Amino acid sequence: MAEKILIFDSTLRDGAQAEGISFSVEDKIRVVETLDKIGVDYIEAGNPGSNPKDIEFFNRIKGMQLKHASLVAFGSTRRGGIAVEEDANLKAILETQTPAVAIFGKSWTFHITDIIKTTLAENLRMIEETMAYLKAKGKDVTFDAEHFFDGYKNDPPYAIETLLAAQEGGADYLALCDTNGGSLPFEIQEIVTDVRKKLRIPIGIHCHNDSGVAVANTLMAVQAGARQVQGTFLGYGERCGNANLTSIIPNLQLKMGYDCLAEEELSKLTSSAIRIAEISNYSLSGREPFVGKSAFAHKGGMHIDAVLKNPSSFEHIPPEAVGNERRILMSEVSGRSTIIQLINEVDPSLTKKSEETTRVMDRIKELEYQGYQFEGAESSVKLLIRKELGKYKPFFTLEDFKTIGEQTHYKEALSSSAVVKVNVEGQSEINAAEGDGPVNALDKALRKALEVFYPTISEVRLTDFKVRVIDSKSGTASKVRVLIESSDGIDIWTNVGVSTDLIEASLIALIDSIEYKLLNDMERKLKEYKLI
Ligand SMILES: [Zn+2]
Repeated sequence: MAEKILIFDSTLRDGAQAEGISFSVEDKIRVVETLDKIGVDYIEAGNPGSNPKDIEFFNRIKGMQLKHASLVAFGSTRRGGIAVEEDANLKAILETQTPAVAIFGKSWTFHITDIIKTTLAENLRMIEETMAYLKAKGKDVTFDAEHFFDGYKNDPPYAIETLLAAQEGGADYLALCDTNGGSLPFEIQEIVTDVRKKLRIPIGIHCHNDSGVAVANTLMAVQAGARQVQGTFLGYGERCGNANLTSIIPNLQLKMGYDCLAEEELSKLTSSAIRIAEISNYSLSGREPFVGKSAFAHKGGMHIDAVLKNPSSFEHIPPEAVGNERRILMSEVSGRSTIIQLINEVDPSLTKKSEETTRVMDRIKELEYQGYQFEGAESSVKLLIRKELGKYKPFFTLEDFKTIGEQTHYKEALSSSAVVKVNVEGQSEINAAEGDGPVNALDKALRKALEVFYPTISEVRLTDFKVRVIDSKSGTASKVRVLIESSDGIDIWTNVGVSTDLIEASLIALIDSIEYKLLNDMERKLKEYKLI
């Protein structure tokens, strides 16, 4: 049986230190739910001693039953010169009633003498007494040895002594922290190997990414015997971020043979990453290893041909293993063998030589001539194929729309409003909305009108909007190409629209985006009921 590596997620604590992230209590609860569903072992959720918002969160979450994970409250060892029972931070930690706690303490002499200004001996007592106190309260205790690697490089015996003090106090795990993120993989391996010889309790690893090698450092620590891995989803964290669990977990599990998550949980990695990125208000980079939209995207005739013959020719793991998907990028050069993949999703009986395939190819060429570019916008191609094959019934028709732009004295930005009229199976609905600019107003009005018929549209958010001016091949007025990226918290998809008018181009992409969402929902449901 594969050996278990405990996954300790700190997205809500260390991750929340990232520039640009500000989790509300609601956001934190949604992150906890997502992390618990994917099956991480520990969720470090905040520092109740230093942050009133975290106290509110811990109060709110007290009644929530987690399926798998243990909730962790974070804080420091008792302050110097006082008794553990009198330490306000430790009191706040105990009040959270979490089953697990993570306590950081100093292991770099310079920080003890120059920063917190106490003696090396008192620091050891602070560590040992804090561990013993929390163990006596029945907690699962991780000791985070802050700046451990720098401390070890500076004074190895003392750094080890801090770990021995934690072990003596009864800690369950000793997490070695590369707090400044300056260590390199070979150093981590050497130091973890040495620590393991001198201590008997399990070692954890906590790396920061300042040298760009936090994932590599973590893997080397596990190779050297660490059994608890700390990190954050997508590597969110202060400065250059923390070790990225969305890379670490599949590497440990699929390549190094360890057991981190159950197989069906690992296949939720991509959708969990999309969800956490969305809650964090970050857009998920397409180049993100394992979970990015481009992680398994292929372009260029020869690569595509090879991947279609045998995916392992240009893929390091099967994309389904992490819940991602292979994408064959559409472009003028890619040809029939790629289009047929998408056609076969709709009708498996068609071949490269079928008349319908020729029709789809001709239509794509015609649109590319008009200025469309389908690379990265396969969802538009999927809709196009269904339309060309006669297998598509629109979910709605847009009967009319108007946009009005206005510059008022009261608002700094140009605000716009839009009115739309849609028709769904003979029933009309009119709606109006205001927005920052006409496209935003149109998007809002369109969704409000359609939500009446299709409530799941409320899950969709525009995550990116790109406009390119393109030279018209006919030599007349120049055109614009609009690319819209949308997400419903499970999937991310991109649609394209082209016109001489920006609003019309946006509208084409917006309508496609909504149609694609509704089509996807319908197919998901049919699959659930095993009708397809
Ligand atoms: Zn950290």
